[in-house]
Amino acid sequence: MTDLYRLLPEEMEEMIIELGQPRYRADQILYALYYKFPKSISEIKQLPSIFRETLVEKGFAIGSTKEVHRVVSKDGETTKLLLNLQDETPVESVLMQYPPKKMFGHPRSTICVSTQVGCAMGCVFCATGQMGFERNMKAEEIVGQVIHFAKILSDKKQHVTNIVFMGMGEPLANYSETIRAIQLLTHPRGFGLGQRNITISTIGIISAIDKLSEENLQVGLAISLHAPNDKLRQWLVPTAGKESVKELIDAGKRFFLKTGRRVTFEYALIKGVNDSIKIAEELALLLRNNGSHVNIIPLNPTAGELKRPSRNNVIEFERILYNSGINCTVRVEKGTEISAACGQLRTDVLSKYNNERN
Ligand code: SAH
Ligand code: SF4
Repeated sequence: MTDLYRLLPEEMEEMIIELGQPRYRADQILYALYYKFPKSISEIKQLPSIFRETLVEKGFAIGSTKEVHRVVSKDGETTKLLLNLQDETPVESVLMQYPPKKMFGHPRSTICVSTQVGCAMGCVFCATGQMGFERNMKAEEIVGQVIHFAKILSDKKQHVTNIVFMGMGEPLANYSETIRAIQLLTHPRGFGLGQRNITISTIGIISAIDKLSEENLQVGLAISLHAPNDKLRQWLVPTAGKESVKELIDAGKRFFLKTGRRVTFEYALIKGVNDSIKIAEELALLLRNNGSHVNIIPLNPTAGELKRPSRNNVIEFERILYNSGINCTVRVEKGTEISAACGQLRTDVLSKYNNERN
């Protein structure tokens, strides 16, 4: 089976021509896929029924995701979906909405997509890391998550404004499918989102960061640093190399030089682990004068022992970086109460959904 959502517009055209159809059929399909969100080929009514049948006979299909469960936060701004992929594998995706700045504007609607089922990196503070690795997701499955939310939004006359690759899994460990998904989502004849409205977050696979900078994409890059020295980083990120801190900072510099896009360093702040004044000063020294931006993410609770620091500690940590001239923000917490925040996504404990339902 070939999912129509897998094909880039040029590939769609090739396929159409091979089937002896006029080129404009490709645009009819693309329009339907990215504006009408059909669940099956039979729903693409713009196409003659005989051609729809041919597509099915030739093994094409729309492998749409099936929504198994939906949780919405009390303020209505965060929605977490449990989606079943074609082979019934469950994954989680999140929509975060931010009220419009202008009175009659649209809200900012950011989709946080998963790129792998589980994750092999095993970060000690991350629920996905703790469930282990199951499989890579296909580009069409990554795109499918965005399409699912796009349909929900379009019913409310809203649309997707941003996509962050910060859900389950390590996007750069599933490199080619992640890049294909970005191409599909940003192609002017595909989903058509601006490249600058996409951010990839990575635990820091150096060779893949360098490769990404050669892709001629204007996507944003966030590198999960979490510690100013290798000893601490290796404890938090067991798969980190012996000199990963320096290597990541250098890779970030190269990415900026090549793409002109500033890199954000993400820093999950954990009580009593990486939140002391001494560590803040060490981090400040490390990042001073390199023009990067630090995004502090006060730890979101998962099943483990690790805790979030107090609000005062977070402010103090931020102040030390700020006073050293480092551009620094604290991530607005969204969706914690529905376990939809950073690092809280996991799908191996499905009984929790049943409990939520009862
Ligand atoms: N694998 C990628 C992207 C997914 S995780 C990465 O690690 O960057 C997205 C972000 O959430 C990362 O910065 C990650 O460090 C952070 N994160 C993971 N677990 C967290 C937790 N329990 N609390 C806060 N942030 C967490
Ligand atoms: Fe994987 Fe990112 Fe979680 Fe680490 S933080 S286990 S890399 S998803």
